[in-house]
Amino acid sequence: MLTRFAPAPTGYLHLGHVVNALHVWGAARERDGRVILRIEDHDRQRSRLEYETSIIEDLAWLGFKHDGEVIRQRDRHHIYHGALQRLIDRELVYGCTCTRAEIQGAGIGDQGSGETRYLNTCRDKGIPLGDGVGWRVIMAPGVERFFDEILGPQEQDPSEQCGDLLVRDRMGNWTYQYAVTVDDHVQRITDVIRGQDLLSSTGRQIRLAKLLGRQEMPRFRHHALVMKSAAQKLSKSDHDTGVRDLRTAGWTAEKVLEKAATLMG
Ligand code: GLU
Repeated sequence: MLTRFAPAPTGYLHLGHVVNALHVWGAARERDGRVILRIEDHDRQRSRLEYETSIIEDLAWLGFKHDGEVIRQRDRHHIYHGALQRLIDRELVYGCTCTRAEIQGAGIGDQGSGETRYLNTCRDKGIPLGDGVGWRVIMAPGVERFFDEILGPQEQDPSEQCGDLLVRDRMGNWTYQYAVTVDDHVQRITDVIRGQDLLSSTGRQIRLAKLLGRQEMPRFRHHALVMKSAAQKLSKSDHDTGVRDLRTAGWTAEKVLEKAATLMG
Protein backbone atom coordinates (compact mmCIF):
# COMPACT_ATOMS: atom_id res chain seq x y z
CA MET A 1 0.00 0.00 0.00
CA LEU A 2 1.43 3.34 -1.05
CA THR A 3 -0.42 6.60 -0.65
CA ARG A 4 0.54 10.24 -0.79
CA PHE A 5 0.07 13.57 0.90
CA ALA A 6 0.11 16.16 -1.87
CA PRO A 7 -0.18 19.80 -0.82
CA ALA A 8 0.13 22.69 -3.26
CA PRO A 9 2.57 25.26 -1.81
CA THR A 10 0.24 28.15 -2.47
CA GLY A 11 -0.47 28.84 1.20
CA TYR A 12 0.33 27.65 4.72
CA LEU A 13 -0.80 24.36 6.22
CA HIS A 14 -4.29 24.67 7.72
CA LEU A 15 -6.72 22.45 9.61
CA GLY A 16 -8.19 21.13 6.35
CA HIS A 17 -4.77 19.73 5.47
CA VAL A 18 -4.40 18.25 8.94
CA VAL A 19 -7.72 16.45 8.55
CA ASN A 20 -6.53 15.08 5.19
CA ALA A 21 -3.22 14.06 6.76
CA LEU A 22 -5.07 12.17 9.53
CA HIS A 23 -6.99 10.27 6.83
CA VAL A 24 -3.86 9.57 4.76
CA TRP A 25 -1.56 8.45 7.58
CA GLY A 26 -4.47 6.66 9.26
CA ALA A 27 -5.12 4.57 6.15
CA ALA A 28 -1.40 3.86 5.77
CA ARG A 29 -1.26 2.59 9.34
CA GLU A 30 -4.41 0.52 8.81
CA ARG A 31 -3.00 -1.12 5.70
CA ASP A 32 0.61 -1.29 6.71
CA GLY A 33 1.53 1.09 3.94
CA ARG A 34 3.81 4.01 3.18
CA VAL A 35 3.20 7.72 2.52
CA ILE A 36 4.97 9.84 -0.09
CA LEU A 37 5.15 13.59 0.47
CA ARG A 38 4.61 15.19 -2.93
CA ILE A 39 4.84 18.97 -3.22
CA GLU A 40 2.39 19.89 -5.99
CA ASP A 41 4.08 23.01 -7.26
CA HIS A 42 3.02 22.56 -10.87
CA ASP A 43 1.66 26.13 -10.93
CA ARG A 44 4.91 28.07 -10.99
CA GLN A 45 3.22 31.46 -10.71
CA ARG A 46 1.31 30.64 -7.51
CA SER A 47 3.74 28.34 -5.72
CA ARG A 48 6.19 29.79 -3.21
CA LEU A 49 9.19 28.27 -1.53
CA GLU A 50 8.25 29.95 1.74
CA TYR A 51 4.97 28.00 1.83
CA GLU A 52 6.69 24.75 0.91
CA THR A 53 9.25 25.10 3.70
CA SER A 54 6.56 25.99 6.17
CA ILE A 55 4.28 23.07 5.16
CA ILE A 56 7.13 20.58 5.55
CA GLU A 57 8.09 22.05 8.91
CA ASP A 58 4.52 22.07 10.26
CA LEU A 59 3.98 18.45 9.18
CA ALA A 60 7.12 17.40 11.03
CA TRP A 61 6.01 19.37 14.09
CA LEU A 62 2.68 17.51 14.03
CA GLY A 63 4.54 14.20 13.80
CA PHE A 64 3.50 13.17 10.26
CA LYS A 65 6.53 11.31 8.91
CA HIS A 66 6.70 10.59 5.19
CA ASP A 67 8.67 7.80 3.56
CA GLY A 68 11.59 8.58 1.26
CA GLU A 69 12.62 11.94 -0.17
CA VAL A 70 10.24 14.84 -0.63
CA ILE A 71 9.08 14.86 -4.26
CA ARG A 72 8.57 18.15 -6.08
CA GLN A 73 6.65 18.45 -9.30
CA ARG A 74 8.92 21.24 -10.51
CA ASP A 75 11.72 18.65 -10.84
CA ARG A 76 9.60 16.38 -13.02
CA HIS A 77 9.15 18.33 -16.23
CA HIS A 78 10.91 15.65 -18.31
CA ILE A 79 8.65 12.96 -16.86
CA TYR A 80 5.47 14.87 -17.76
CA HIS A 81 6.83 15.64 -21.20
CA GLY A 82 7.91 12.07 -21.80
CA ALA A 83 4.57 10.62 -20.70
CA LEU A 84 2.66 12.89 -23.06
CA GLN A 85 4.60 11.73 -26.12
CA ARG A 86 2.58 8.54 -26.20
CA LEU A 87 -0.61 10.62 -26.54
CA ILE A 88 0.94 13.05 -29.03
CA ASP A 89 1.93 10.09 -31.25
CA ARG A 90 -1.69 8.94 -31.20
CA GLU A 91 -2.85 12.46 -32.18
CA LEU A 92 -4.80 12.86 -28.96
CA VAL A 93 -3.22 16.21 -28.03
CA TYR A 94 -3.84 19.55 -29.69
CA GLY A 95 -2.99 23.23 -29.25
CA CYS A 96 -5.68 25.58 -27.97
CA THR A 97 -5.71 29.38 -28.00
CA CYS A 98 -8.94 29.84 -26.02
CA THR A 99 -8.64 31.89 -22.85
CA ARG A 100 -10.42 30.97 -19.64
CA ALA A 101 -12.66 34.04 -20.01
CA GLU A 102 -13.65 33.01 -23.54
CA ILE A 103 -14.45 29.49 -22.41
CA GLN A 104 -16.53 30.68 -19.50
CA GLY A 105 -18.43 32.97 -21.83
CA ALA A 106 -19.15 30.22 -24.34
CA GLY A 107 -19.24 27.12 -22.16
CA ILE A 108 -22.13 25.18 -20.77
CA GLY A 109 -22.23 25.56 -17.00
CA ASP A 110 -22.73 22.27 -15.22
CA GLN A 111 -25.36 23.00 -12.54
CA GLY A 112 -24.17 20.46 -9.99
CA SER A 113 -20.49 21.28 -9.64
CA GLY A 114 -20.55 24.71 -11.23
CA GLU A 115 -17.91 23.48 -13.63
CA THR A 116 -17.64 24.93 -17.12
CA ARG A 117 -17.32 22.44 -19.94
CA TYR A 118 -14.92 23.28 -22.76
CA LEU A 119 -16.69 22.94 -26.10
CA ASN A 120 -13.59 21.61 -27.89
CA THR A 121 -13.50 24.68 -30.14
CA CYS A 122 -9.86 24.26 -31.16
CA ARG A 123 -9.93 20.47 -31.61
CA ASP A 124 -9.88 20.53 -35.40
CA LYS A 125 -7.90 23.71 -35.97
CA GLY A 126 -4.49 22.04 -36.23
CA ILE A 127 -2.82 24.51 -33.86
CA PRO A 128 0.70 23.17 -33.20
CA LEU A 129 1.81 22.33 -29.67
CA GLY A 130 4.14 25.09 -28.62
CA ASP A 131 4.72 27.81 -26.08
CA GLY A 132 1.95 30.35 -25.59
CA VAL A 133 -0.89 27.93 -26.37
CA GLY A 134 -2.71 25.50 -24.10
CA TRP A 135 -2.36 21.76 -24.74
CA ARG A 136 -5.48 19.63 -24.53
CA VAL A 137 -6.09 15.90 -24.54
CA ILE A 138 -9.19 14.65 -26.35
CA MET A 139 -11.83 13.21 -24.01
CA ALA A 140 -14.00 10.90 -26.11
CA PRO A 141 -17.55 10.36 -24.80
CA GLY A 142 -17.80 7.50 -22.30
CA VAL A 143 -18.40 6.83 -18.64
CA GLU A 144 -15.63 6.06 -16.13
CA ARG A 145 -16.73 3.99 -13.15
CA PHE A 146 -14.97 3.64 -9.84
CA PHE A 147 -15.76 2.62 -6.31
CA ASP A 148 -15.20 5.20 -3.63
CA GLU A 149 -14.44 3.64 -0.24
CA ILE A 150 -16.58 6.23 1.52
CA LEU A 151 -19.19 7.21 -1.07
CA GLY A 152 -19.72 3.92 -2.90
CA PRO A 153 -20.02 3.39 -6.68
CA GLN A 154 -19.45 6.46 -8.87
CA GLU A 155 -19.71 7.19 -12.56
CA GLN A 156 -18.50 10.22 -14.47
CA ASP A 157 -18.24 11.12 -18.13
CA PRO A 158 -15.34 13.57 -18.54
CA SER A 159 -16.52 14.61 -22.02
CA GLU A 160 -19.72 15.86 -20.37
CA GLN A 161 -18.08 17.34 -17.30
CA CYS A 162 -15.11 19.23 -18.69
CA GLY A 163 -14.64 18.43 -22.38
CA ASP A 164 -11.12 18.06 -23.75
CA LEU A 165 -8.74 18.25 -20.82
CA LEU A 166 -6.10 20.96 -20.45
CA VAL A 167 -2.80 19.28 -19.61
CA ARG A 168 -0.46 22.25 -20.10
CA ASP A 169 -1.53 25.86 -19.81
CA ARG A 170 -0.56 28.86 -21.90
CA MET A 171 2.16 29.79 -19.39
CA GLY A 172 3.78 26.39 -19.87
CA ASN A 173 2.61 24.95 -16.52
CA TRP A 174 1.52 21.31 -16.40
CA THR A 175 -1.98 21.29 -14.96
CA TYR A 176 -3.02 19.71 -11.67
CA GLN A 177 -5.10 17.04 -13.47
CA TYR A 178 -2.23 15.96 -15.65
CA ALA A 179 0.66 16.15 -13.18
CA VAL A 180 -1.26 14.27 -10.49
CA THR A 181 -2.29 11.52 -12.91
CA VAL A 182 1.24 10.98 -14.20
CA ASP A 183 2.67 11.01 -10.68
CA ASP A 184 0.09 8.60 -9.25
CA HIS A 185 0.85 6.28 -12.17
CA VAL A 186 4.65 6.52 -12.25
CA GLN A 187 4.95 6.39 -8.46
CA ARG A 188 2.62 3.37 -8.33
CA ILE A 189 0.26 4.96 -5.83
CA THR A 190 -2.24 2.32 -4.68
CA ASP A 191 -4.51 4.55 -2.59
CA VAL A 192 -5.69 8.09 -3.36
CA ILE A 193 -7.15 9.69 -0.23
CA ARG A 194 -8.34 13.26 -0.60
CA GLY A 195 -11.22 15.66 0.01
CA GLN A 196 -14.59 15.46 -1.69
CA ASP A 197 -13.84 18.70 -3.55
CA LEU A 198 -11.74 16.54 -5.88
CA LEU A 199 -14.35 13.81 -6.42
CA SER A 200 -15.37 15.23 -9.81
CA SER A 201 -11.72 15.07 -10.97
CA THR A 202 -11.41 11.34 -10.48
CA GLY A 203 -13.18 10.18 -13.66
CA ARG A 204 -10.97 12.32 -15.88
CA GLN A 205 -7.86 11.18 -14.01
CA ILE A 206 -8.87 7.57 -14.56
CA ARG A 207 -9.44 8.29 -18.26
CA LEU A 208 -6.07 9.98 -18.56
CA ALA A 209 -4.34 7.19 -16.64
CA LYS A 210 -5.82 4.63 -19.03
CA LEU A 211 -4.62 6.63 -22.04
CA LEU A 212 -1.16 6.80 -20.45
CA GLY A 213 -1.13 3.01 -20.17
CA ARG A 214 -1.95 2.46 -16.51
CA GLN A 215 -3.44 -1.01 -16.14
CA GLU A 216 -4.63 -1.10 -12.56
CA MET A 217 -6.30 1.92 -10.99
CA PRO A 218 -5.69 2.95 -7.39
CA ARG A 219 -8.35 2.72 -4.71
CA PHE A 220 -10.11 6.01 -4.02
CA ARG A 221 -11.34 7.52 -0.80
CA HIS A 222 -12.85 11.01 -0.86
CA HIS A 223 -13.47 12.27 2.64
CA ALA A 224 -15.68 15.13 3.86
CA LEU A 225 -14.18 18.59 3.85
CA VAL A 226 -13.81 20.77 6.87
CA MET A 227 -16.45 23.44 6.63
CA LYS A 228 -16.17 26.84 8.25
CA SER A 229 -19.81 27.33 7.56
CA ALA A 230 -22.11 24.98 5.68
CA ALA A 231 -21.06 26.24 2.26
CA GLN A 232 -17.52 27.49 2.67
CA LYS A 233 -14.58 25.14 2.59
CA LEU A 234 -11.42 26.08 4.39
CA SER A 235 -8.78 27.73 2.33
CA LYS A 236 -5.09 28.05 2.93
CA SER A 237 -5.38 31.80 3.15
CA ASP A 238 -7.68 31.63 6.17
CA HIS A 239 -5.47 32.72 9.00
CA ASP A 240 -7.79 31.57 11.73
CA THR A 241 -7.16 27.93 10.86
CA GLY A 242 -3.49 28.11 9.87
CA VAL A 243 -1.26 25.73 11.81
CA ARG A 244 1.37 28.51 11.90
CA ASP A 245 -1.02 30.83 13.67
CA LEU A 246 -2.27 28.18 16.08
CA ARG A 247 1.37 27.47 17.00
CA THR A 248 2.02 31.15 17.54
CA ALA A 249 -1.07 31.29 19.73
CA GLY A 250 0.49 28.63 21.94
CA TRP A 251 -1.33 25.48 20.76
CA THR A 252 0.57 22.21 21.20
CA ALA A 253 0.79 19.66 18.38
CA GLU A 254 -1.51 17.39 20.41
CA LYS A 255 -4.12 20.09 20.66
CA VAL A 256 -4.03 20.79 16.91
CA LEU A 257 -4.37 17.06 16.17
CA GLU A 258 -7.26 16.72 18.62
CA LYS A 259 -9.03 19.68 17.05
CA ALA A 260 -8.52 18.22 13.55
CA ALA A 261 -9.81 14.84 14.73
CA THR A 262 -13.07 16.45 15.87
CA LEU A 263 -13.45 17.91 12.35
CA MET A 264 -12.97 14.59 10.55
CA GLY A 265 -16.68 13.84 10.28
N1 GLU B 1 -2.56 19.19 -4.64
C1 GLU B 1 -3.96 19.04 -4.37
C2 GLU B 1 -4.41 20.06 -3.35
O1 GLU B 1 -3.61 20.70 -2.72
C3 GLU B 1 -4.32 17.65 -3.88
C4 GLU B 1 -4.05 16.62 -4.91
C5 GLU B 1 -4.69 15.27 -4.72
O2 GLU B 1 -4.78 14.78 -3.59
O3 GLU B 1 -5.06 14.69 -5.72
O4 GLU B 1 -5.60 20.24 -3.17
